[in-house]
Amino acid sequence: MKDDNCIFCKIASGEIPSKTIYEDEEFRVILDLAPAAKGHALILPKAHFTSLYELPDDCAAHAMLLAKKMAKQMTDKLHCDGFNLVQNNGETAGQTVLHFHIHLIPRYKDDGQKIGWEPREMSQDELAQICGQIIAE
Ligand code: AMP
Ligand code: ZN
Repeated sequence: MKDDNCIFCKIASGEIPSKTIYEDEEFRVILDLAPAAKGHALILPKAHFTSLYELPDDCAAHAMLLAKKMAKQMTDKLHCDGFNLVQNNGETAGQTVLHFHIHLIPRYKDDGQKIGWEPREMSQDELAQICGQIIAE
């Protein structure tokens, strides 16, 4: 359940010190070393799962409950104006550390950050084709 070559396994277990803002048996929540905004934190499961694709259902459910709890606590304490949850899977999607994690990103008016994507145009026909592709048996 632990990968000896994984930095987040070492941080989650406490082998490498971190700025920890929450810990229980299943998770550690740490401040990101290179934050997008004040308070940017990462939820790390203590067990090693590369990405969402490998995450067991119970861990996924607990991780989202913890994200909700942390977002509320951090908003109360940091007085942020909004909150992003970001979760990258695969290098193409921007994942740089291959140990599942959820970014907790407090947002502040005028923080100058851009977290998002460039919207593209798509016809109703194309949307219908993709819809069919996804729900096809
Ligand atoms: P991702 O691109 O979704 O894989 O995000 C990885 C995140 O981990 C980045 O925001 C990094 O700044 C952060 N990070 C990498 N190494 C460490 C570390 N040792 N301690 C805290 N955060 C880290
Ligand atoms: Zn790991």
